[in-house]
Amino acid sequence: SPTLLWFRRDLRLADHRALLYAIELGQPIIPVYLHAEDDGGVWRDGAASQWWLHHALEDLASQLESLGSQLTIYSLESEDQLADFLIQLAEETGAKQIVWSRRYEPHFCQRDRQIKSSLTNAGILAKSFNNSLLYEPDEVKNKSGGHFKVFTPFWKSLKDQPPEKPLPSPVSLASLQPDYWPAGIAVSELNLLPSISWDAGFYKNWLASHQGAEASLKKSLSKAPNYQQTRDTPAIDGTSRLSPYLHFGQLSPRELWHSLNDRFGNDAAIVEGITRQLYWREFSAHTHYHFPHSTDRALKPEYDAFPWNYDEDIIKQWQKGETGYPIVDAGMRELWATGWMHNRVRMITASLLVKHLLQPWQEGARWFWDTLVDADLANNSMGWQWVAGCGADASPYFRIFNPIIQGKKFDPSGDYVRKWIPELAQLPNEYIHEPWTCPPLELISYGVQLDKDYPNPIIDHQKGRQQALDALAEFKSNR
Ligand code: FAD
Repeated sequence: SPTLLWFRRDLRLADHRALLYAIELGQPIIPVYLHAEDDGGVWRDGAASQWWLHHALEDLASQLESLGSQLTIYSLESEDQLADFLIQLAEETGAKQIVWSRRYEPHFCQRDRQIKSSLTNAGILAKSFNNSLLYEPDEVKNKSGGHFKVFTPFWKSLKDQPPEKPLPSPVSLASLQPDYWPAGIAVSELNLLPSISWDAGFYKNWLASHQGAEASLKKSLSKAPNYQQTRDTPAIDGTSRLSPYLHFGQLSPRELWHSLNDRFGNDAAIVEGITRQLYWREFSAHTHYHFPHSTDRALKPEYDAFPWNYDEDIIKQWQKGETGYPIVDAGMRELWATGWMHNRVRMITASLLVKHLLQPWQEGARWFWDTLVDADLANNSMGWQWVAGCGADASPYFRIFNPIIQGKKFDPSGDYVRKWIPELAQLPNEYIHEPWTCPPLELISYGVQLDKDYPNPIIDHQKGRQQALDALAEFKSNR
């Protein structure tokens, strides 16, 4: 009897434990993708993720076809229909087992548990595999048997325990074709692409396919020796840009880990550069899994009472990259144009929003969620909470980034700002991160008039800093 292979955020054929298990069964394989419009509940995919998903599905379908198989796609109105739909599909195709890759976000854990039990009750064998993390969150414990809440001990306890080796992709699936292929729909019928074409920059920056993943992996390996020196400079393409491939499962984290170790195994400093970040990903996923409330509430619950000062207009200015702080605006514009933002700039933009501007971190997280091609609930919630001081091993709230100093330190040439804010392109370095300090007549000679071509700062740095510290004091006094 056929095996249904249910693809989710594991859109690859290499190192795919569920696929390899299905192959070992020696029964025909029917690969399917079920798109529920409300998949993920309130955290259903944002617009940038949908763009990526469209291309990743098209690519997966064509890879399967070239191996003599096919991807059958369905669209469902709601996730609540998934279990019944799978049971019906099993009846239609004669399948007796369904295999898939686990998702670890709390919403999916709970949902999948219910689906598994419905399938089991219907006499169908349901089996799931880890294809997105280096280790099973339930298997990683600290010395007292609890969960890590601080990154360094988490990293130290795991970094010398190699994750399982990646397994190769099959060379052909032709001999495992079923007698009967169920009828699905085309990827385009899922309507994942935007109706207004704001995605031109995405096409220029990304190849959302397995070739894209392989090329980025290859490039990251060749850049790895310089990673530590360049990773904090947004004007340099110094990081791997593998985040969307990891999120959509087009690249296995096991493959990344082993590729780095195989190539640079005797040079710990090189291996640990990117690997350490991969363990931050792992730490976020495990923390999110163990503390489900941290999706959109503070991991440290007392921070839910923080006196935020919600203001829609301020949030809009931040989203549009019109705060008057060049490094922040450059980041927000890079995000809008490409669906990605450099990690250092994610921290600076997030800090301005939650500290100087006192806006709830959840508002920033929501905007990133809609606009990032690598939007990942665990990494995003943890990243925002790290900045807001309420997450695991977070930067304390009183540590407030100065957006001018951050700009000067991490974009000393001003090239990053000039790339994303062309209206400031002629400014010399001494003013590029604080154009308001340039005498107005001189500024005009560089083609800039403040509040006409580029805004004045949305808030004075010292004032914003004091406001943030006062809010923290108020919060503490009310506890
Ligand atoms: P590299 O530096 O090449 O790192 C390799 C991989 O490690 C990345 O692809 C990513 O999977 C992982 N990684 C790197 N840094 C982190 C980190 N700080 N936390 C967790 N994992 C990390 N990352 C996302 O994947 N999705 C998000 O939605 C997301 N939102 C964020 C929001 C904020 C406010 C902040 C501060 C960070 C966020 N990050 C998020 C983490 C980080 O910024 C990105 O993973 C990184 O910039 C991706 O670029 P890269 O692939 O070149 O990273």
